[in-house]
Amino acid sequence: MPYKFTFDLSKVPHFFFSEIAMVSYQRGMHKSLIKKLQELIVRFRIQEATGLNLSDALVLLEDLIDLQAVNAIERGKFLQTRKRALFLPHCSRKYLDSRCKAVFNPDIPSYTCAHCSADCLVNQSVQLATKKAYDIYIVPGGSCIPKIMRNTNYEGAVGVACGEEIKMFGPLLSKLDVAGQAIPLIKNGCANTIFNIETLAKVL
Ligand code: SF4
Ligand code: SF4
Repeated sequence: MPYKFTFDLSKVPHFFFSEIAMVSYQRGMHKSLIKKLQELIVRFRIQEATGLNLSDALVLLEDLIDLQAVNAIERGKFLQTRKRALFLPHCSRKYLDSRCKAVFNPDIPSYTCAHCSADCLVNQSVQLATKKAYDIYIVPGGSCIPKIMRNTNYEGAVGVACGEEIKMFGPLLSKLDVAGQAIPLIKNGCANTIFNIETLAKVL
């Protein structure tokens, strides 16, 4: 399920994400995580930047913190894996209409990028992951992932999606004993979405 709200954190200073990582690392040390997140929301003017109300902003930040924490827990196991997959969201393609030359194969189901645009986030991610020998899937929705995972035997998986989509796959990865790493979108909305390509490069 996507979020019931849209957000765009792509213009928020990069330092904000370092703070999120720090809070995630120290989460047991904060008496009230909510209070700490409220401080961050005020300090980085998250509501002004995104138009979110306080409750939705808290949901978003809590998800970012949780995903960071799970990434840290899974990191050691992930680094031991050899056979890995990268799942990219179709919504981060530069174009969602016929200008995108990716070919969709419903049997997988996945798009294959045709590299039509150098500044397309999906294209850049495909190039990064190809160099590292990942199998790459550009999926039209999270519901495609269980089918792909059940027909393969990956040891590790990296997923890019909005936080709520990613959280749905934690139980599936645990059940299949697959080490996961997550890259949350910093702009959602199901079209022209954005994630941090530098973060993806580091995770891969
Ligand atoms: S670079 Fe690939 S994913 Fe991006 S718009 Fe072109 S074909 Fe589609
Ligand atoms: S923003 Fe992208 S990843 Fe999130 S629900 Fe929409 S299409 Fe899926």
